[in-house]
Formats: sequence, C-alpha cells, structure tokens
Amino acid sequence: MILEKYSFGIGDRFGHQGKAQLQAMVDAEKQGINITPVWNKSHREHTTIGTVPGDVRTASDQAVRALEWNGAYHVDADHISLKNVDLFIDSSDFFTLDVADFIGRPADEKEVASFVNKYKKYVGPLKIDRINETFDITKEQIKAIGDKFLLAIGEAGKIYRHIESAKGAEKFITEVSMDETNQPQTPVEMFFILAAIADQNIPVQTVAPKFTGRFNKGVDYVGDIARFTKEFEQDLTVIAFAVGEFGLPESLKLSVHSGSDKFSIYEPISMALREFDAGLHIKTAGTTWLEELIGLALAGGDALTIAKEIYTRAIERFGELCSPYATVIDIDIDKLPTPQAVNKWSGDEFADALRHDRSCEKYNPDFRQLLHVAYKIAAEMGSDYTDSLKENERIIARSVTENIYYRHIKPIFGK
Ligand SMILES: [Zn+2]
Repeated sequence: MILEKYSFGIGDRFGHQGKAQLQAMVDAEKQGINITPVWNKSHREHTTIGTVPGDVRTASDQAVRALEWNGAYHVDADHISLKNVDLFIDSSDFFTLDVADFIGRPADEKEVASFVNKYKKYVGPLKIDRINETFDITKEQIKAIGDKFLLAIGEAGKIYRHIESAKGAEKFITEVSMDETNQPQTPVEMFFILAAIADQNIPVQTVAPKFTGRFNKGVDYVGDIARFTKEFEQDLTVIAFAVGEFGLPESLKLSVHSGSDKFSIYEPISMALREFDAGLHIKTAGTTWLEELIGLALAGGDALTIAKEIYTRAIERFGELCSPYATVIDIDIDKLPTPQAVNKWSGDEFADALRHDRSCEKYNPDFRQLLHVAYKIAAEMGSDYTDSLKENERIIARSVTENIYYRHIKPIFGK
C-alpha cells in the first residue's frame, strides 16, 4: 500500500463531518490538486469522547460513498503504542507509531557499537545534493545519536512487526512519529534515525520529527520562521538522500504534525515542496470541532446557547481541560473573556472571536485554544450536542469545508 505524494490528516472528533471534510478534497481535485484524505484519531481522543476506532472507519467509508470519491483514503491509528495498537488493527490501514517516550532512554551498548561501526563510513564531510551545507559527521556524533534514538527505533520495530503479523505488510502504511517531545531533531539526527529505521526493516512512508518552534493547538506557529524553513528544507533533502542510501520506500516523505493552523509557515513549506519536488503529509487534527462550534454560533438560537454553555463550563474546568495539553497550549488567562460577557455575544461575535482569521481584530487566540481543548464537555453533553450538529448540518458543513480548503489546502498545495 503506497501513500500518495500529498496527503492530509483530518480529525473528526464527533464523526459527523466526514462528508464536509472530504468535500474540501473534492473541491481541490476540481482545481487540479490531488490530496489523499487520512482520517486520524488517537487513543486519547477516543477515550475522551467515548468512541472506538471502528467508528472512524464507518464514518470515513460513509463519506466516501456519499461523495462518490474514487481516490485513495486512509484511516490513521494516530500516535499508537504497543499498549493500545490492538484496538486499531481491524479498522486502520495507516499506523502512526509513536516512540517519542523512548527517546533518550539508554540503548543496548552492543547495539550502539555495531550501529557506529556500520555507519562510520559517513564520518567526515557529508555533502547532500541541493543544500548548500556540508555536515561534518563525527564518530562521537553517530554514537550519541545511537544512544539517544536506538531504543526508540527498536520500539517502532516491535510495533511494526506486531501489526505486520496481524494484518500483513501489504495492508497498511507506516508512519513513525517523534514529535511529542521537547527537543527538535536535527537533519543529521534525522539521517541516522532513518538508517536505524531501515535496519529495523520498517517500510516507513512518512516520518514526523519535532521541528524547531512551538506548534500549539489550533493557533499559529510560534518561533523563528527562517530557522524552521532551513530545517524543513534540509529534512526534505536528507529524506530523499536516505531513501537512496538505505533502500527505504521511494514514497517516504515528511509528516508535519501541525497541531493545526500553522499559517505563517505554510508559504515556506509550499515553496520548499515545489523547489525539491517533495511530497508531504500534513496532520491537522482537531480544528474541525472548532468549525462545528462556529457553525453552531452562526446558527443562533439554541445552537448558540450550546456553544456558550460549552465555554462557560470550560472556564469552570480550566485546569482539568488544559493539563493534558500543557505542552501544546499557551493560554493567557487575562485575555479570556468572562462567561458573562460571552453570554451577551451575538452568534457573529462568538464566531469572530473563535475563527482563526488573523485579519479580524476580534479574533482571540486564547479563547480559541481553550475551546480547542474543551471537546470533552461537548462529549459529555451527548445527544444534546450531536443532535444540534445534525439540525445545523448545512451551516456547519460550510465552515468545515471552507476552513480546510481555503485556510489549509490552497496555501500549501495550491498552484
Ligand atoms: Zn503528533
């Protein structure tokens, strides 16, 4: 199973927006942009919402049938580990093996020694085509990379072989993710990580590093854009080089776990993809849920009341909702509106504060981040919430489709 050149990870927390999401890919196709949709949902999201992995398969199959989508599509078991992979075996055909927790744990000394021995041929100046930089590789550096990453890549090998024995190697796509950690991986580290992945015989088709800068949930990139651009370009070329050096799949490409909405780096990403003729998998996760809230607010009446109620309860349960996401949100409490103020807002005011439109002065990124992590409250509302989604399907669907198409697909993949 080969992953196409451009693929887009979409999360659908409540499983009602599959069609609206897919419509964005249909619209893109009409413009000559071919994007493969990948519906991703992690174990954490399933646990919070009370869904099971099979629900994602059902919802995506339904969307594909309804829109008569003939292209490829996939269901991603996002950020899985050996502990929970079994729940996803039947319904997923894309597995994101998350080994970030194992980075830095000491690897077996003998394994590190043989790794250094195998790759010491790269010691000295390493010049990779198309980047104006020569990396100076030392034996100590290779050892340090082995010490830091070999155990994690060994774990990826275990998870891969577990899935392979249950499903068969031809039946799924493999991603290796290392993004949920604090320290970015350098392009040189990426090169030797790919060597280790090849040694584990993992047919990796997409790899998600931790990039420099902060990738907070649902809001823009925070960091040095020039530095990110350089790192991104170097990663692209390192990957292309590693495919040839280590015999990895030709389809191997970078995966950006964006946390959604990293608008200020979309332009450098887009330019680099063109310059290096590279593919990309971009994961956007959970902002479809925020488009649901925007749609509810715009619908007014009872739907707007539900949106306001969710915010009121989110303020009351601020600590509980934010703590699981502490490393990927930055909320300035002083900039959050009070529930009393929000309760007086019109639907447009609520939508303007929430919608990620940097040109709108009413946009409030703190309000947006809090609601981003507040989906648990909507889940607890049960059918009150989901019935309202159904009643207001048209207005919500428009927000969902337009968000994906105009704010994400067009800036990254548009011509
Ligand atoms: Zn991730």
